[in-house]
Amino acid sequence: MIMIKNIFSRRFLARGCQILSQRGIASLSSLPESHQMLQKTCRDFTDNELKPNAGKFDREHLFPRDQILQMGQLGLMAISVPEKYDGTGLDYLAYSIALEEISRGCASAGVIMSVQNTLFMGPILDNGTEKQKEDFIRPFVSGEKIGCFALSEPGNGSDAGAASTMAVAKGDRWVLNGTKAWITNGFEANAAVVFATTDKSLKHKGISAFIVPKDSAGFSLGKKEDKLGIRGSSTCSLIFEDCEIPKENLLGQMGDGFKIAMKTLDAGRIGVASQAVGIAQASLELAVDYSTKRTAFGKPISKLQTIQQKIADMALRVESARLLTWRAAWLKDNRKPYTKEAAMAKLAASEAATYVSHQCIQILGGMGYVSDMPAERHYRDARITEIYEGTSEIQRLVIAGAVYKEMA
Ligand SMILES: Cc1cc2nc3c(=O)[nH]c(=O)nc-3n(C[C@H](O)[C@H](O)[C@H](O)COP(=O)(O)OP(=O)(O)OC[C@H]3O[C@@H](n4cnc5c(N)ncnc54)[C@H](O)[C@@H]3O)c2cc1C
Repeated sequence: MIMIKNIFSRRFLARGCQILSQRGIASLSSLPESHQMLQKTCRDFTDNELKPNAGKFDREHLFPRDQILQMGQLGLMAISVPEKYDGTGLDYLAYSIALEEISRGCASAGVIMSVQNTLFMGPILDNGTEKQKEDFIRPFVSGEKIGCFALSEPGNGSDAGAASTMAVAKGDRWVLNGTKAWITNGFEANAAVVFATTDKSLKHKGISAFIVPKDSAGFSLGKKEDKLGIRGSSTCSLIFEDCEIPKENLLGQMGDGFKIAMKTLDAGRIGVASQAVGIAQASLELAVDYSTKRTAFGKPISKLQTIQQKIADMALRVESARLLTWRAAWLKDNRKPYTKEAAMAKLAASEAATYVSHQCIQILGGMGYVSDMPAERHYRDARITEIYEGTSEIQRLVIAGAVYKEMA
């Protein structure tokens, strides 16, 4: 299999990024050749390896281990990691394009890839020491090792600043106590970025980030959650009972944990948006294909204006969401503020995925409701994109806060 790393020489990609910068956001729909090649490589992989197996991963709640390893070989498990650490060294727009294509075939593979790239590697790349990058980035690039991100707790999700998992310094160790809830990749993870407070009275300013290897004493897993969708990815709690980690596993400075988490989630939201666009695109493709083959009242249902109007609304939402997502990625790549734009992209894309997958079932009629066709899986998979990495209500708060600030 050809690795994306090999296809994309640094110079070729740099030229692609330069063209993008010159064209600006208005012309993002005409991608440079480098990004089009990436898209095609991912599309072929998805059509051959993910689409035929995604139903099985879903039914059997199966982690797609072989496919994740192949994605690692393609360079997809560390897209934005510099080549210095064996990563693929591509920009965030490339990440968004690749993640959409992967999620188009299997939303579970999409979330596994997104957590590895953005939520686990992202904060380590931005805040880690050289040793932390050597220990927790390089061995994870191939996808053989998996990482996770542990912010939510049983008592708080949206209100992440209320974290109650405690970290206490003891000699040359940190001792962690508490439980993290809903952790994607938790079951397979070899290490976790964990947020814990050293002083609860300081609220969010007391939170620090730590890297916890799976084999740390006092670290165990809770039960695997039985979920509505993205069933090929695992979700479970992480339990810390006098869990000891070395002092040097503090990530960034003490008290910076909340800032690190929020910055990570800004980038993560571009990932969830890309995943949602992929689910929506898959639903649209399915609806178009089915409607041209299914006949009713003597003609294909695609000839009925009611169906055409649905297809138009679906396509409109997919493309609007994709452009918002690419805009947020472009802003990040060009080191411009993108918190509001990432929230807008996630909100629009997740609501588009829910809407488009809902309409897809409607267009398929009875066939949309049974698991012989992937429409019902897309509908179940879409729903989580409105919840994790900040619910739609939280995205609206972020957007409104930014709008009021801009217009003050
Ligand atoms: C499958 C799955 C995977 C996940 N993966 C991870 C992971 O890898 N790592 C991780 O740390 N977490 C993860 N999560 C947790 C996820 O991020 C939280 O579920 C989410 O942030 C919402 O938190 P909550 O469930 O505690 O809901 P709550 O915060 O209790 O919210 C309940 C409701 O109240 C609303 N609400 C809360 N506060 C406000 C407000 N201020 N204004 C308006 N409405 C509000 C919410 O929008 C929601 O509708 C995952 C969750 C799921 C289901």
